[in-house]
Amino acid sequence: MTTKRWHGGELRWNSDSQEWSVLASGRAPRPHVLTRTECPFCPGPGEDTPAETWRLAGVDGGWRVRAVRNRYALSDGHEVVIESPSHDWDPATATTSEVVDVLSAWQARHLALRVDAAQVAVFRSHGRAAGISLSHPHSQVAGLPVLSSATRRELEIARDHHSTYRRSLARDILASELNIGTRIVFADDEVIAFSPFAPRADCEVRFTLRKPDADFAAAPRSGVEAVARCLRAVLSALRTAFGDPAYNLVLRTAPSGYEDAPFLAWSLQLLPRFDIAAGLELATGIPVVTVSPDQAAARLRTRVAAAVTP
Ligand SMILES: [Zn+2]
Repeated sequence: MTTKRWHGGELRWNSDSQEWSVLASGRAPRPHVLTRTECPFCPGPGEDTPAETWRLAGVDGGWRVRAVRNRYALSDGHEVVIESPSHDWDPATATTSEVVDVLSAWQARHLALRVDAAQVAVFRSHGRAAGISLSHPHSQVAGLPVLSSATRRELEIARDHHSTYRRSLARDILASELNIGTRIVFADDEVIAFSPFAPRADCEVRFTLRKPDADFAAAPRSGVEAVARCLRAVLSALRTAFGDPAYNLVLRTAPSGYEDAPFLAWSLQLLPRFDIAAGLELATGIPVVTVSPDQAAARLRTRVAAAVTP
C-alpha cells in the first residue's frame, strides 16, 4: 500500500488501476457560498481571502485579477484565481481583454507553481453541476507532486507517435479536423476550436493554436489573445444555444520538465455538464454522449461567428 504524505492530506496509490487518489480530509468543511451575501471574494468590508500571491493592478489601487492561496488547499501550491472584482462577471459576456487577463493569470501562476510540482492542474468550473462551491467567478491552479497515470499515458502516446512519424500527434489531429471540416467550431489564422471526434462530454470543444507548442505558460501574447477571443465567443454561443449549462474548462499543457517537448501541444478543453455521469461511464470509464460532435459543432458554429468580436 503506497502512500505519499502531501501537506494536509495524503496521496494513495491504487495498485489495480495504477492511479493516484487524493485523500484530502481538510477539504470536507468547504462552505457552499452561492449568493453574493457575505461573499469573501467581493472587494469591500466583507472581503476575506488568504494571502494574495499575485495581482493584475486595476485603477485606483484596485485589482483586475488576483491569485490567493486556497483556504481549502489540496497542497501549498494550490491557489484560487479570482477572475474579476465583479461577483456577476462571466467570460461568456466579458470583453476579450478581461478573458486575456484571466489566461495571463493562469500563465503566471503555472510558471510559479510548477517549480515545486510534477504537474500543475488549471481549471475553471461554472454552475453547481460542475462542482462549484462559491459563485464568485474563479479558477484554480494546483501543483501536484506526482504525474497522474492519465498524464503519463498521454505523454507516452504522444512520444510514440512522434518517434514513429516525426510529427506531433496534436498537429496531425488538427490537420485532419481542418481537412474534414464538419467538426470545426471556429478557425482563423491563429486559433482553432473543434468538437473532438470521440468526445468525453456532450458539446465538448477543444481550443488550440494552429501551431501549438508544449507549454501554455510560454504562449505569446498574440496567441493568448486569439484563444481568449475564441473562448469568449464559444462560451457565449454555448449559453445562447443550450441555456447556460454548467461546464468545466481545463488546461492541458506540458508537465514539469517537458516544456520544450516537440511531441506535445497545449490546448484548452471545454466540457459542458448536461447530465450526471451515466452508469456505463461509472462501470467502465467510457463516456457516453448523446449529441454527435458534428451536430454540436453545427449548432455552435454560426452563433460563434456572430459572437466573435475583433
Ligand atoms: Zn463575490
